[in-house]
Amino acid sequence: MEKQSFSSKLIEAFKQEKFLLFCLAYMLLPVPLLTPLAKNIGLDDCLWSVFFSTLLLLTIFVTMQFFAIKTVKACCSVLLIFTLVPSAIFLAYLLFAQAFLLSDSITSIFETNPEESKEFIAYYMNPFITAGIVAYASIPVFMIFKMRGNGVFSICRHKVPFSICITMLLLFVIFRPAAHSVYFINFYKTYIQYKKRHYEEKKEIANRLKQPFAVSKLQPDTLGQTLVVIIGESLTRHHMSLYGYGRKTNVLLNRKDSSLVVYDDVVSPQVHTIPVIRKVMTFLERNHADYFSKRPSLFELFNRAGYETYFISNQPYGGRYETSYDLLLTQAKHQHNPSLQKKPDGVVFPYLQEALGDKKKNKLIVIHLMGNHMAYIFRYPKEYDVFHNDSDDFIRSNAKYMTPEAVKTIDRYDNSVRYNDFVISNIIQFVKKSNNSSAVVYFSDHGEEVYDLRDFAGHAYEKVSSYMCEIPFLVWRSPSFGNYRTDLAFDTKRPFSTADFLYSITDLAGLRYENFDATRSLFNQAFKPRERYVGEYTYQEVKDMTKDLEHSK
Ligand SMILES: [Zn+2]
Repeated sequence: MEKQSFSSKLIEAFKQEKFLLFCLAYMLLPVPLLTPLAKNIGLDDCLWSVFFSTLLLLTIFVTMQFFAIKTVKACCSVLLIFTLVPSAIFLAYLLFAQAFLLSDSITSIFETNPEESKEFIAYYMNPFITAGIVAYASIPVFMIFKMRGNGVFSICRHKVPFSICITMLLLFVIFRPAAHSVYFINFYKTYIQYKKRHYEEKKEIANRLKQPFAVSKLQPDTLGQTLVVIIGESLTRHHMSLYGYGRKTNVLLNRKDSSLVVYDDVVSPQVHTIPVIRKVMTFLERNHADYFSKRPSLFELFNRAGYETYFISNQPYGGRYETSYDLLLTQAKHQHNPSLQKKPDGVVFPYLQEALGDKKKNKLIVIHLMGNHMAYIFRYPKEYDVFHNDSDDFIRSNAKYMTPEAVKTIDRYDNSVRYNDFVISNIIQFVKKSNNSSAVVYFSDHGEEVYDLRDFAGHAYEKVSSYMCEIPFLVWRSPSFGNYRTDLAFDTKRPFSTADFLYSITDLAGLRYENFDATRSLFNQAFKPRERYVGEYTYQEVKDMTKDLEHSK
């Protein structure tokens, strides 16, 4: 009798409390229902997502029947606060990029610095989008306001169903497949895991730095050398005339210059800055996440070898911009942060000149550029506004997505590539003038797709393509560099991933240490090509997916 009255009361509640039901549905269901739009996840994942989200909705609805309307409204308001931002981000990804946001990209969102977000929002916001966001957020507020009804069930009289509801709610957080399938729980769990990992890595690296670690040098200390590593941003080699692009985006860097080595087959290990930098500066491997903190990183190795180390960044870092690779950057003995001036990359020149002027014997200078990051128009000074499709008629695609706005975006990206050409050549010129035994290595963290394949500009692992991982990799050497290292090889055809950059740069400097692996150094005679991965895909898989997209263009 008791049971029957419980279920009939529940059915009645479903009929009566429409605002509660719609409000929960509004917050929980649009994302899972739209997941079939995503091209990067399978149908089974979509179905699980719908199943668990609906189950969560029903569980919350039944649980709410045990509480008074005030508590129900308060719970719904809390749920709204927690779901609003993740749902807006997931929906924007689904609707505009036909992609479902994966963990690495969620982490990237947490690490995107406020300045970059402001710049992005200021550039893309328009009154329609603002009105859409306001309307999207107001609807559930209205529904919460309109909610009526009071606790249908008493907790004391229905202890068992109440306990089942609470247990189920807890399971949604603890039980991995459920937590993973409900978008906003997954979002916050990723955040907590990321914070936890960051804390543990920080602690472990600090402890390890206190332990001895021997780094020896192949050449005598009397031979002072300067190594400059330039890490670019979002530059695909497909928009560089140095690699065959039709527009003259490289007028200063030149293949005919015998001191410049242009590598033709280099890919990045991911297509987002954070996972790439975490791999490039450490020995972190796909199957050995622990090597990030268990083994030494770039600055640490050079510090231990007695180098003066410098870090000059036009990308914000440190303080309130802290990222999960800051603990690698801040190991440089000298640090400069011209990013605070918010200017194009030429802002790094005076800091580089100052570092070069310092006549210490061995130096490692790492420069992190803003490069070719969105929004492209902010990446170059006015005088580099040189490419206009109106005048050169370069973009001749008939594709539907090639709107005047898309064409303008390509023009701007190409302008930023041309400016990057100036920045890199100038850095090389400064190093050349410093008259030391020196080498400059430039590569971009990852590439960029700029309406090359489809209606999309940017880089996102969910839409990974060759354009996003095929990067430029250049090495410039002074005539005296490497006189003692005639064993090094500079073969531009070697298939390489910057995942093995640390082996290569330490080899170029002639450093030796425990676990050094010559077969992974791009510059070593013993180099052996390895399977290259872009995130969890093999590079070949990425190429195949890109080919499929090209055919369906
Ligand atoms: Zn990047």
